[in-house]
Amino acid sequence: MRLYNTLHRQVQNFKPQQPKTATLYTCGPTVYNYYHIGNLRNAVFNDTLRRALTATGYEVKHTMNITDVGHLVSDADEGEDKLEKGAAREGKTVWEVAEHYTDAFKQDMAALNVQAPNSYKSPKYHDTYARATEFIDEQIKMVEALLEKGYAYQTEQAIYFDVTKLASYGELSGQKLADKEVAARDEVVTDKEKHHPYDFAVWFFTVGRYKDHTMHWPSPWGQGFPGWHLECSAIIHGTLGDPIDIHTGGVDHIGTHHPNEMAQTEAAFGHPLANYWIHNEFILVDNTKMSKSKNNSYTLKDITDKGFHPLALRLLYLQAHYRSELNFTWESLEAAQNTLLNLYGWADLKHQANLAAVRLPDDEIDKFLESVTTALADDLGTTEALAILFRYVSKLAPGMTLDAEDFDRLTAGLDELLALNLSGRPDITAPQKVLIAERETARDARDWPASDKLRSQLAKQGLEVSDTPNGPRWRRSSF
Ligand SMILES: [Zn+2]
Repeated sequence: MRLYNTLHRQVQNFKPQQPKTATLYTCGPTVYNYYHIGNLRNAVFNDTLRRALTATGYEVKHTMNITDVGHLVSDADEGEDKLEKGAAREGKTVWEVAEHYTDAFKQDMAALNVQAPNSYKSPKYHDTYARATEFIDEQIKMVEALLEKGYAYQTEQAIYFDVTKLASYGELSGQKLADKEVAARDEVVTDKEKHHPYDFAVWFFTVGRYKDHTMHWPSPWGQGFPGWHLECSAIIHGTLGDPIDIHTGGVDHIGTHHPNEMAQTEAAFGHPLANYWIHNEFILVDNTKMSKSKNNSYTLKDITDKGFHPLALRLLYLQAHYRSELNFTWESLEAAQNTLLNLYGWADLKHQANLAAVRLPDDEIDKFLESVTTALADDLGTTEALAILFRYVSKLAPGMTLDAEDFDRLTAGLDELLALNLSGRPDITAPQKVLIAERETARDARDWPASDKLRSQLAKQGLEVSDTPNGPRWRRSSF
């Protein structure tokens, strides 16, 4: 397995700490709003990485957090808490907001075939996501360690991490603290006792602007709530143990969130947080940045409301390398959907035994699946993996099909890697088979009006019938 490590700015061979095991952490959603297509791309990227690791022989231990407290509007400790803002907007409690958007998030993940994390079980919510509010004790312990070791200081409003105390701070983005200071914009520093503009809060007190913060817990220093960055470090420590092998996220986290996570763990525990940092690129919409004002931060519901299949979106993501910007357009989604229908047309041949069935040589399926895996193992070469698949699919001449058992092995193997639901495709119904047979009889009798009528009857049911040297072949024109 080879992966681009942002920390070293190069593609490296993946060497886990334990042979055959890979520990993986993914920054999860802040549950105050729906995931948009940029966030969804990150989810599919993570899932593809996990599938590639599994296929190359690793047992993947995967944790993902859910931020249900403490993420302020700006990643740099400014503005309101996103959950509180969502609650005010929707006239709900923060807990209701968190629950609603967590459920929506989980539904999106299921629709896109994104596997849930597997290394934690929530006793309260009975799922495998690690919520920030379930790790308050662990976060308080980290603040204690940071204070004890002199990496944090307390003001009236908060406890801050002192970035000047850690020489390695900022190494992920390649920006030295001094450079960052010069480049820093004139931010309003709301806490005048803060030592350095890049110091970040690890614990907020329910005083001043956060006096009425709904979610708060007792701590040795007073009532309050954790800073956003802290939860990832504490959750990793509590579920996987640090250092972990791989930490992932969107490129938007390279500047602030990930350096802060790294700094906390390194300062509190004396070792790095993760050995490989893997980041996926942004999405553009019609070649412009997504934004609320342009109304182009599409959600999965926007996609399905327009009649698209969620897995057409998954395929669209796989068609681009995770480290290149992806330009989303409705036309590109439509093209991806047509490609997916073509793939389903191939997989549906499993049910068309009237065509000439080929039995593949014993090792051909293994070799083919191995070549797709090899493409994925090369820094997640999803475009190459798909190219291999399309070449393979197009090798089957018209009028030919594969042995049904071979189809099962092929499509099951592909679904483990690409998760496009190629296996288990349903057959057409018995009445539809009768219509196809009747059309054949009409054609044999050269009764063209009858045969045309039957063809359009089948088309109305979403089945296109074409004639091959070996008899009729049907294809679905929709999902
Ligand atoms: Zn994080």
